[in-house]
Amino acid sequence: MTENLHLENNLYDVIIIGAGPSGLFAGTLAAMNQLKACIIESSSEYGGQLTLYREKAVYDMPGFSKILAGDLVNSLYQQYLGYADKVPLYLNTQAKNFKKVDDYFILSTDQNTLKTKTIIMANGGGMFQPKRLDLENIDSFDNVYYYVQKTDIFKNQDIVILGGGDSAVDWGLTLLDSVKSVTLIHRRNDFRAHEQNVHLLKEKATVLTPYQTVKLEKKNNQSVLTIKHAETGELKDIKFDHLIVFYGMVPIRERLDQWGMEIEKNAFKVTCALETSVKNIYAIGNSVYYEGKLRMIVTGLGEAATAVGQITKTLYPNKMSVFKH
Ligand SMILES: Cc1cc2nc3c(=O)[nH]c(=O)nc-3n(C[C@H](O)[C@H](O)[C@H](O)COP(=O)(O)OP(=O)(O)OC[C@H]3O[C@@H](n4cnc5c(N)ncnc54)[C@H](O)[C@@H]3O)c2cc1C
Repeated sequence: MTENLHLENNLYDVIIIGAGPSGLFAGTLAAMNQLKACIIESSSEYGGQLTLYREKAVYDMPGFSKILAGDLVNSLYQQYLGYADKVPLYLNTQAKNFKKVDDYFILSTDQNTLKTKTIIMANGGGMFQPKRLDLENIDSFDNVYYYVQKTDIFKNQDIVILGGGDSAVDWGLTLLDSVKSVTLIHRRNDFRAHEQNVHLLKEKATVLTPYQTVKLEKKNNQSVLTIKHAETGELKDIKFDHLIVFYGMVPIRERLDQWGMEIEKNAFKVTCALETSVKNIYAIGNSVYYEGKLRMIVTGLGEAATAVGQITKTLYPNKMSVFKH
């Protein structure tokens, strides 16, 4: 179907698929290296997974002891905006497939068809949705959330958080200053979160483990969650104004193997120069696998520099890359 869409005459040096942190930064770097490039993003906003946790603090960004994910996205975007006239960002545009023609690729999107010498896959493995709390009448509660976009509604309220990962613990710490109380409930005694943050939260909030959720009810207009101790079977009723569930994300992703590149551990297998098994197609960020790969923002940003540097060197061997200092 996309084959019939308008084929632009422009021949890009590189098309970046995905405007998460890795793709946005790759766009900025491509402009700095004076590559003819554009970024394609399937959703209506840039920022990728960070848009799911805008008001959560990120503690592992170099140069910042703490930065909100939303502020980090804004900073990356502000930096990119300085070059936006050179590297356009097309939102609401989903990349579908590509085919090789002579020495360039024809990339089909659901909006148009583009020509490019190279591609950077920064698609993060696709979009994700939060894993839901599986209790009978959950849909009748409008005070149950799976991610936090605005914290104002929680001000001076009793908040219950479910989960034992970084999101649950980081949000517990982030909300402590503005809410009336934070109770974190986790089904295990062990956490999958930063140890120091778990320790801090245990000092400042109520942390109940190991408890499973049993039912949700309204009693005299008050929301109540019943939980059961995993070992003793003891039942407890916890009143709350807002319940936030952090049970992780489930992928609603397109299959990466449909792109035709070699896949390992559900991600594009790449060389140390971030090239996939198809020559001139690179991959960065969460959609990538190599030994030792960490799925963190900072690694995706570093990979953006490597891939853009490599593309510049391949396409313009005599050109001085701005990454050489
Ligand atoms: C709750 C939570 C908390 C986290 N906290 C931290 C933290 O504190 N520190 C840290 O370092 N990391 C954290 N992470 C991980 C971090 O968010 C990811 O490592 C990072 O977002 C990966 O960036 P990316 O650009 O590779 O991919 P993504 O952020 O996944 O972005 C990919 C983008 O590509 C787009 N896309 C996908 N397919 C297509 C297509 N076919 N066409 C066009 N566009 C497409 C998507 O819409 C998306 O915008 C957290 C993740 C979650 C879920």
